[in-house]
Amino acid sequence: MADKFDLVVIGAGPGGYEAAVEGVQKGMKVALVENRELGGTCLNRGCIPAKTILHTAELYHELQSGPSIGLTAREPVIDMEMVQKRKDEVLEQLRKGIASLMKTNRISVFYGTGTILDREHVKVALSGEKTGEKAEEQPDGQKQDQVVLETGHILIATGSVPACPPIPGSSLPGVVTSDGLLDKKDLFEHLIIIGGGVIGMEFASVYSSLGHGVTVIEALDRILPTMDKEIAQNLKMIMKKRNVDIHTGAKVEEILRTEDGAGLICRYVEKDKPCEARADGILIAAGRRAYTGGLITDESSQEVKDMAMERGRIVTDETYETSVPGIYAIGDVTGGIQLAHAATAQGRNAVAHMAGENMVIRTDIVPSCVYTNPEIGCVGISADEAKARGIEAVTKKYIMSANGKSILSQQERGFIKVVADSDSHRILGAQMMCARATDMISQFAVAIANELTLEDMAKVIFPHPTFSEGILEAVR
Ligand code: FAD
Repeated sequence: MADKFDLVVIGAGPGGYEAAVEGVQKGMKVALVENRELGGTCLNRGCIPAKTILHTAELYHELQSGPSIGLTAREPVIDMEMVQKRKDEVLEQLRKGIASLMKTNRISVFYGTGTILDREHVKVALSGEKTGEKAEEQPDGQKQDQVVLETGHILIATGSVPACPPIPGSSLPGVVTSDGLLDKKDLFEHLIIIGGGVIGMEFASVYSSLGHGVTVIEALDRILPTMDKEIAQNLKMIMKKRNVDIHTGAKVEEILRTEDGAGLICRYVEKDKPCEARADGILIAAGRRAYTGGLITDESSQEVKDMAMERGRIVTDETYETSVPGIYAIGDVTGGIQLAHAATAQGRNAVAHMAGENMVIRTDIVPSCVYTNPEIGCVGISADEAKARGIEAVTKKYIMSANGKSILSQQERGFIKVVADSDSHRILGAQMMCARATDMISQFAVAIANELTLEDMAKVIFPHPTFSEGILEAVR
């Protein structure tokens, strides 16, 4: 039996490792259990690798317009092996940063699959091979096959994995999920993307920025179905200009090999009409499902086996406690908003609750971003949502084509919309589609959390020339 802990966190993604640090800051003795790499999906198969590749793709795209701004460079060439090498270096650097954060905070990291035995015990089937950190990081028990950790609280942060709808042919070579595409050492000539959500559209942006063909097939009647309608319409137009072929209201029926075996055919039905698209690669980006593999097994107590779940997701109350007292769950494994910063915020709040403190982070205000070109950032409610909730709201809109920084840097597309209560002018939400929207949206998150009005924001001086001046114009 290993040492007794106050908190055992299962899963070292952005939800889990940040919660572990929070636990230490609240005076707890903490263990962190991870069966792959520190950093979870976000660092290893999500946000960071995707944005590292996107960064190169955007520079490539910008260089194409070099001559029009007086810059003539040699024809840029994409070296995917180098892109992958750099991506791996970025991930390694960040993983080392997390490992050192765990060390500084004296968090015991156990590499292996964590199984909850009961309210107070987690078994770790230790993996022989440790990923992400050196042997000395391992507690003494590491030489055994398994270790049982005794604990006061358990936090489940086991994340999610790509969801693969049962499409015939989806296991053919060339059909990948985001995991496969992020590790690919070369590019498909033409990529079909099944799913026009955030992940699908970000990859559409990468491929089209690199001048490769893209077809997007989305079952619902628009891309980015969870976002503001105007943003989705604008992105569709911009993507079409970049030769991205987008089909909405289209349901994929099957995937087949081409007659010569060299390519893939994707058969789908669009407005009752059978259609097909051809490509050498297909990305399935049809959402993600909560991951609980190995977490609850035959060895778990009956109470743990009976933990409330809904369609594979762990159900919690508003304090993140599951149906089993003392066992909490946060992040992607609980479904809901599957974003890294949401997982982190939930983890910190859950730990505060365990410690008997107030949960101070406003997890009801979650900025959501899409790293397309132009970027998209949304927070709070849209005009449509205000209407649906019966809230009298005004919407102010500023078109970024008049913003100096946007014009000088050739980024003139896009807009900023602000939704405010029509009586009090209190800011309720904002939707931005412009350069740096993903950085600037936090200003509106601060405004909403602090109940600022349009007039409060308009009192502030914004530096010139910046994209953020667009915010001032929008709230005036
Ligand atoms: P995860 O990050 O999934 O971490 C869970 C960890 O638990 C994993 O390492 C897993 O191996 C481990 N684990 C699972 N079961 C066990 C077990 N039994 N024992 C031990 N360990 C276990 N979000 C953003 O906010 N911004 C973005 O730009 C963004 N881009 C994305 C791009 C892509 C391509 C993808 C796929 C996702 C993206 N996301 C983005 C979503 C983001 O990655 C997730 O929301 C986030 O990682 C969820 O964090 P988490 O801590 O809940 O779980």
